[in-house]
Amino acid sequence: MLEPKVVFSRCSKTKDLFGVRIDPLNENEYVGTWAFKLPEAALELEGYEDTTKSLKLSYFTNDYPGCPHCERPGVFFCSCGKLNCHIDNESITCAWCGTRTDASELVRGEIDVAGGAM
Ligand SMILES: [Zn+2]
Ligand SMILES: [Zn+2]
Repeated sequence: MLEPKVVFSRCSKTKDLFGVRIDPLNENEYVGTWAFKLPEAALELEGYEDTTKSLKLSYFTNDYPGCPHCERPGVFFCSCGKLNCHIDNESITCAWCGTRTDASELVRGEIDVAGGAM
């Protein structure tokens, strides 16, 4: 049974937490469909990170509202394994680990995320 999942992301501008809802296309491919603000306490909740299975997040639907804090339309998958909100062609400093990635190093395409059940 394939079910939507929520993965954590942070706003690369404000560092605030938000959740990205990803819906399954098939066994291991997901599309991002929604984003919503989350309190920091959500990081402690069980259920969000109860799977370590690597998922492929292929793209975002047109309905995806962007970051709920700053409206950036996409996400960046840092080498630390965490998501940040992102906009194309912009350098980014990871809100989780502080690693800076220049725009020229950014690669488009699929990202792997470890998601938890909703
Ligand atoms: Zn943001
Ligand atoms: Zn990072």
